[in-house]
Amino acid sequence: MDTCTVETGLLKKKPCGHPAVTHCLNCEQPLCAQHAVPELTDTGRKSGKFLCKECEAAHREQKKSLAAVAKSAPPPAPPAKKPAAPAPGKDAPAQGKGSPSDDGAIDFTPGKK
Ligand SMILES: [Zn+2]
Ligand SMILES: [Zn+2]
Repeated sequence: MDTCTVETGLLKKKPCGHPAVTHCLNCEQPLCAQHAVPELTDTGRKSGKFLCKECEAAHREQKKSLAAVAKSAPPPAPPAKKPAAPAPGKDAPAQGKGSPSDDGAIDFTPGKK
C-alpha cells in the first residue's frame, strides 16, 4: 500500500507517510487525503482528479499566464482596405537617368563645389 510522499516540515523535510488515497494526476506521487489537492476545471468545478500541492501550483500558474497572454493579445486587426490606386508611372514623365532625389537639395549645397 502506498503512503503519501509529500514532503512536510519546513526545516527538516520528511515524507508525510499517511496512507495514500489517490495519486497526483501530473507526477503520480501517492497522496493522502490531506495532501491531495482537487483539480479544478476552468469553470471552477472539481474534475474528480487530484494533484499534489506543487503540481497544482504549477497548474494554476500556467493557467494564469495563459489567461494573461490571452488577455494582453491585441484583437485581430481588421483587414486594411486598399484604395483603388491608379496605375503609377504613366503620368509621370521619365526623367532620364537623373536621380529622383534632386529636388530640395538645390538651395543647400554644403561646402563642396
Ligand atoms: Zn504532482
Ligand atoms: Zn500526506
